[in-house]
Amino acid sequence: MDDAGAACGRGKQMEVFWHEGMVEHDTGNGVFDTGMDPGFLEVLEKHPENSDRVRNIVSILKRGPISPYISWNLGRPALIPELLSFHTPEYVNELVEADKEGGKMLCAGTFLNPGSWDAALLAAGTALSAMKHLLDGHGKVAYALVRPPGHHAQPSRADGYCFLNNAGLAVQLALDSGCKKVAVIDIDVHYGNGTAEGFYRSNKVLTISLHMNHGTWGPSHPQSGSVDELGEGEGYGYNLNIPLPNGTGDKGYVYAFNELVVPSIQKFGPDIIVLAAGQDSSAFDPNGRQCLTLEGYREIGRIVHVLATRHSDGRLLIVQEGGYQVTYSAYCLHATLEGVLNLPMPLLSDPIAYYPEDDSFPVKVIEAIKKNYQKDKVPLWRDS
Ligand SMILES: [Zn+2]
Repeated sequence: MDDAGAACGRGKQMEVFWHEGMVEHDTGNGVFDTGMDPGFLEVLEKHPENSDRVRNIVSILKRGPISPYISWNLGRPALIPELLSFHTPEYVNELVEADKEGGKMLCAGTFLNPGSWDAALLAAGTALSAMKHLLDGHGKVAYALVRPPGHHAQPSRADGYCFLNNAGLAVQLALDSGCKKVAVIDIDVHYGNGTAEGFYRSNKVLTISLHMNHGTWGPSHPQSGSVDELGEGEGYGYNLNIPLPNGTGDKGYVYAFNELVVPSIQKFGPDIIVLAAGQDSSAFDPNGRQCLTLEGYREIGRIVHVLATRHSDGRLLIVQEGGYQVTYSAYCLHATLEGVLNLPMPLLSDPIAYYPEDDSFPVKVIEAIKKNYQKDKVPLWRDS
């Protein structure tokens, strides 16, 4: 950021990193995310991971009531060597070649089309810039507003609309810059398998993922997201999966945070926290079966704010992941950031009604996970 930018940003509480070029990733139309036209429908829908999502997020952050708290920073493309801190050279080469050849379907629903690779590089570079901003001490809270999303992208393969692991690259940058411990909290409705895989053998990165219990979904996603996937070697006990029953809403998520996420972060003591924020855990998402509303996202944001204040000197990087209902996702993100900024009053009311929540089953599941952590070999929980 230049001096003028720094002056403009003074007094603002959140830095957003964004680049318009990310809308150029065109995922096409078809039956939901298949890219296929069965030939008998009059109206084909946009692929759920389309640019309308981020256009509405940009819009609500610029025109919504949170706008005075935000300053804007221009993202930038990642350089190929930067990608190798998380991804294998063979995989990066596969993506470069796919782009040169005019595109490729890398796995189900995941289309690298003309323009996609440049957008993916922008998403990765923008997440790196946002992290660097925090590491250089220029701010405490940054939000990388990026697409394509990243948390399913593993070191050597694409998965679930993701090519490059934006959050994973940012975490690795923090470690390479001298941070000893980084915690990732992933609230996207799907298992953050790519980020988990990248740090599966490391005790320097605590990856926590709250997701619906979707299991594996084919060769690109062999991980199950179950409680047993705890990490390996030195990393054993540093990947905590919290699969929540379908229909878990605000109360269930807050309970899971208070009972599992908060104590784990307390025991781990990270130098920096990364929140992988997906809004597909909302009540209206076509890609998820959970029931979070603005209130729940706001409360999660507030809990993460408290965790960052207590444990990481306030340093928090938020990285955009999924979220496919183009109206509600923008509102949910706005509410999450309200919570993260610990603003005293809700700035936005929920524009649409929500489904009722039955929190009795999620509470049982969360209690069972907690017992498992306590009696099992999760190092962080051993003495509790
Ligand atoms: Zn997702």
